[in-house]
Amino acid sequence: MEEKKRRIRITNVYTWFIIVLVISSALLLFWSYKSGQSIKAMQDQTNEYIAEQQAIDGMKDASDLLTEKSRSFIATGNVAAAKLYFVEVNVDKNREKTLEELAKYETGDEIFESLNEALKKSNDLAEVECYAMRLAAEGYGIDPKTISKDLAAVKLTDADKALSKREQRVKARNMVFDDNYEAMKDDIIDDVISGLEKLLDDSHHEQVRTYNRAVLLSRGVHIMMFAILICVFALLLLTSGKLIVPMRRSTVYIEKNEPLPTEGAEEYGYLAETYNGMLEKTKRNHEELSYEATHDELTGLFNRKMFENRRSELAGSDIAMLIVDIDYFKKINDENGHEIGDKVLKKVADILQSCFRLEDSVCRIGGDEFCVLMLQMTPDMRDVVKAKIDRVMDKLLIPDDLPKATLSIGVAFYADEGDEDLFVKADKALYNTKEEGRDGYTFYSDIAEKLNSEND
Ligand code: GH3
Ligand code: MG
Repeated sequence: MEEKKRRIRITNVYTWFIIVLVISSALLLFWSYKSGQSIKAMQDQTNEYIAEQQAIDGMKDASDLLTEKSRSFIATGNVAAAKLYFVEVNVDKNREKTLEELAKYETGDEIFESLNEALKKSNDLAEVECYAMRLAAEGYGIDPKTISKDLAAVKLTDADKALSKREQRVKARNMVFDDNYEAMKDDIIDDVISGLEKLLDDSHHEQVRTYNRAVLLSRGVHIMMFAILICVFALLLLTSGKLIVPMRRSTVYIEKNEPLPTEGAEEYGYLAETYNGMLEKTKRNHEELSYEATHDELTGLFNRKMFENRRSELAGSDIAMLIVDIDYFKKINDENGHEIGDKVLKKVADILQSCFRLEDSVCRIGGDEFCVLMLQMTPDMRDVVKAKIDRVMDKLLIPDDLPKATLSIGVAFYADEGDEDLFVKADKALYNTKEEGRDGYTFYSDIAEKLNSEND
């Protein structure tokens, strides 16, 4: 049993391709968007880190400013420095602002705690500084109210009040330069540094997480792009191998009027098979039409048209022409009916066909008139022709159901003398046979002399 070859259906492939393309494109767009977001998030995190770092640094800077201004006043009695100290404490409030700034971001609790601790310690230190400044103001004989009411509100101990001016200045200076003060200051710096370290740690972790996510997303984007590219190439190869190449190849077959090869995609195969079917049908129709156009329907012999073709094809070559006519055929028709007449015609045709060579053309050129064109025949071969005619006549004598029929034949060779057309010569020979009583044959060459003398 012949197994039908499975062919690829390009339309199905296209449907799958579109599905894959839509999914891949959607993923591609989504992941590209997400990857863009990750990069933006990394940028935001960096900006946030910088802002938070600046804020934390602000805490240290503000604390340092207080130290510097208080020391400046205590060491030199510089009232301007003392005033700036209180501007920082009461107006600028940079240390508090640090915490407010950090609250804007999603700063970790631990960082916040460290900074709160730093602020608390800075306030403790500020108390020491204020007391020392108050004592220094006393030592310098400066009215604390001229600096700040906060400074004026600081109460000195009785023991400190009892000190001399110089002693008061020395004690105040010691308070802001001694180890205790430095230790408190270091504590504040430690808290700020610990906040900064935590911030760095948090930011690093967050950046690594975001970076890994961005890497994963961009890998997904690359894979999808690669998948789309592969799909497009596969489709191109498939379309060209199974559709375009077979179609281009088929043009050669179409030009040659030959059946198309059916290998290729199912769609192409269907077209090729349909075309082949139509081509076969057309060829068959054509053959049938050309057979009908060149053959006699009743006898199957060449018809008059074909006879004329053969005659012109063979003009000038050595042939013998035999015109054969059934004697009194009209009478056969009249006495036996048209159908029997047809059968007699068919019988004569079959006998003629069987007695001559295949290359000789046996034609029906009229109602009961036939013509045989014998190839490669010269006048010296009249015995061959005679033998053929005898065979025909003998076969005709074999008894059957049909009415008896005889034939009159006229024969002429191309090489016979005389300028007349070969057909005219053969026809004249036939006429002679009819004249002489029918059921026989005449060679034109035998009557040529007689005809010529008649003409003279
Ligand atoms: P002759 O001996 O002189 O040839 O006499 P004839 O009766 O054969 O005369 P003619 O050649 O004139 O008659 C031919 C007849 O053949 C006339 C026509 O009715 C008949 N005929 C022509 N074609 C067909 C055909 O296809 N079938 C049949 N049955 N008869 C046909
Ligand atoms: Mg006749």
